[in-house]
Amino acid sequence: FDDRDGYIWFDGKMVPWRDAKIHVLTHGLHYASCVFEGERAYEGKIFKSRAHSERLHNSAAILGFKIPYSVDEIEKAKTDLVAKMGFKNSYVRAVAWRGSEMMGVSAQQSTIHLAIATWEWPSYFSPELLEKGIRLKWAKYRRPAPDTAPTASKAAGLYMICTISKHEAEAEGFQDAMMLDYRGQLAEATGANVFLVQNGELHTPTPDCFLNGLTRQTVMELARRRQLKVTERAIMPEELAKTDEVFLVGTAAEVTPVGQIGDYSFKVGPLTKQLREDYLKEVRAHVASAAAE
Ligand code: PMP
Repeated sequence: FDDRDGYIWFDGKMVPWRDAKIHVLTHGLHYASCVFEGERAYEGKIFKSRAHSERLHNSAAILGFKIPYSVDEIEKAKTDLVAKMGFKNSYVRAVAWRGSEMMGVSAQQSTIHLAIATWEWPSYFSPELLEKGIRLKWAKYRRPAPDTAPTASKAAGLYMICTISKHEAEAEGFQDAMMLDYRGQLAEATGANVFLVQNGELHTPTPDCFLNGLTRQTVMELARRRQLKVTERAIMPEELAKTDEVFLVGTAAEVTPVGQIGDYSFKVGPLTKQLREDYLKEVRAHVASAAAE
């Protein structure tokens, strides 16, 4: 991924892609003092850009560090970078971390860095897979309790168990893993939130130990606009037996139909298709209104 043309916004400068490097004694690498964002630009405009920048600041605050660029400065950096790279539809990754001045668990005086990159990342999954729905394996690890880890932060450290779980799923031919939480309740996939359709209504786990994703919030709003009932509640995995449809939502995943979780299978039904369409329309409608401002 490091050998490409283009630029990365790095601590206030546009740095050639191949030169955007850090030292091996970076605290963020050793101790996961690192937070990030995943965003998507549609037709050159980032959907919910400001909300992502605010979440990045909040994620850092939860880990006890302050990003030395304001939300406005981050907004300008992202806008400049997307324009400079010239992509119409791209993924945007902002990442902030503690630098290499101090080694050890304590690193109070280390410099905080910020980098932003953007690249083309069309769809997570092929059209054929989206037709049938992706297959998920149960993850080996559970989402930790909020008093075990800083679960409200989009912190790099929380992704360790996601990568392990996703790799194990892929090794067995699945596309992703479904994670339970510390109580054994349904939580989320390794990089996306989950919705269930039961008797024409939507149900989704209460985000009390994982990210309340921006896509999740958008999809809830879109569902309510269609007069669909949405309930946030504790969901035990056995309920999948009486569930008609399942889909994942996330910035990268957008709205992705799920065909299977472990031994449970689902059809790609009408509500999943409708909300996927509504979501893809919404992200572009947002672009149109932003252009008119
Ligand atoms: N959960 C996890 C673990 C994620 O990585 C993501 C993607 N950021 C989400 C949920 C969905 O968040 P969002 O809709 O804000 O992208």
